[in-house]
Amino acid sequence: MNLTRVRTRVAPSPTGDPHVGTAYVALVNYCFARQHGGEFVLRIEDTDAARSTAESERVILAALHWCGLTWDEGPDVGGPFGPYRQSERSSIYASYAAKLLASGDAFKCFCTPERLEEMRVAQRAAGKPPRYDGQCLTYSAQEIARREAAGEPYVVRLRVPDEGVCVVNDLRRGPIEFEYTSVDMQVLIKSDGMPTYHLANVVDDHLMEITHVFRGEEWVSSAPKHLLLYSYFGWQPPELLHLPLLRNPDKSKLSKRKNPTGILFFRAMGYLPEALVNFLALLADPARDGEDEMLDLPAIVRRFDPQHVPIGGPVFDLAKLDWLNGRYIRERLDPTSFVQRVQEWAVSPERLKRVAQLAAPRIERLSDLGPLLAFLFSGRLALTTQSFESTKLDALSIRQALSLSVAEFDKLAAWNAVEIERVIGRIAAALDKKARDVARPFYVAITGSPTSIPLYDSMQLLGRDLVRERLRNAIDLLGAPSKRELQEWEALLARHEVAV
Ligand code: GLU
Repeated sequence: MNLTRVRTRVAPSPTGDPHVGTAYVALVNYCFARQHGGEFVLRIEDTDAARSTAESERVILAALHWCGLTWDEGPDVGGPFGPYRQSERSSIYASYAAKLLASGDAFKCFCTPERLEEMRVAQRAAGKPPRYDGQCLTYSAQEIARREAAGEPYVVRLRVPDEGVCVVNDLRRGPIEFEYTSVDMQVLIKSDGMPTYHLANVVDDHLMEITHVFRGEEWVSSAPKHLLLYSYFGWQPPELLHLPLLRNPDKSKLSKRKNPTGILFFRAMGYLPEALVNFLALLADPARDGEDEMLDLPAIVRRFDPQHVPIGGPVFDLAKLDWLNGRYIRERLDPTSFVQRVQEWAVSPERLKRVAQLAAPRIERLSDLGPLLAFLFSGRLALTTQSFESTKLDALSIRQALSLSVAEFDKLAAWNAVEIERVIGRIAAALDKKARDVARPFYVAITGSPTSIPLYDSMQLLGRDLVRERLRNAIDLLGAPSKRELQEWEALLARHEVAV
């Protein structure tokens, strides 16, 4: 492995809230670059224009900063290889796609979505893996020119050999073989002219002179496509290491649906960033025999060894995070820093001002604040099924409203009181109930009481991740819906939306 020059990167797609997996991948790339005196780059992969938002980018960067990570180049700090946002680099990708077309390593594909769907159905029926069948490769130059002149939309696809094996050399797993017949002729440029992840990622890693790529295991199957692109362009590919996916103690995949996975959740719960980073570092590089597991960032950087990255999915064990966090609070925070942390966590002047405004109309003595606001300074709430009895809504409607809201809240581009209220209003309408009545169980789930300071503002203040967690707890308590029930309820909501 050439270590004379090391450049690594993390390349998040700004399509949602910052995921703890992004911090994990960023940390590993950060450590490797720092350890070798190299550079660590942050690149924003926002080629999916429909799902990418500036707000998500802002929150992801802030969350990584909160973790204590810094980067040498990125959209916020600039650098010699910019721009660092893929949406600002479209002309670059177009010129590289043109090169591939000219060399015959990519081709224009005019197949309609209907034809591709028919092809997939037939492949599925025949028990074959889904793969583009190469129809447009058979067209003559005249045929292609004719279709283009007629204004037929097309995508640009990667040419993949019909036979042979691609060997992906993973730094940790060693050689991994892929039959070319199992590699799809990937779309490189979409019909709107925008690149897909695969083309943009390879072009950027090359142009940004990235030497080592540490990324999630879910990208292993993309590696053959990427290696083909490197070879077509005549470029040296970076070293690759695929990090195992984080898992639950039962070995299932960590998923937002079932687990807290947002960095902001951990912040809202009052975990210290040092503890979270320490915890993530141990997942990528477990403690050696007899080593103290409490490690600060410089120590994490010093000791990181890619050969220690586990191959089996490391368990994201929240009990361990709790234990580490407790140790950080007890062993690393003197009274002054403790106060400072508490302030940062929950009582920043800005937040306190907002809370005070909301609480003032509802109290007679300042001492009323404690019980009224306790929910804002808590993690999970101790609720029982009786907690929901004071609400006017029947048990089924409560389960429906809470369950439907989880997915609807996740879809919101912006997390604020107005949007939150709109979601609850829509659900109430679909259930044919009064919005006020539907809001009650939300009060209970979120604040622990059927009345409190204004609900939607409280939800905004708590943040989407903690709200999701409290809703999920309430739903579990009241009886989580079966898959079928949830589908029915979602259909009910969708039908209602169409009708209005
Ligand atoms: N944009 C991809 C992601 O969101 C990056 C994958 C890679 O590192 O190649 O994970």
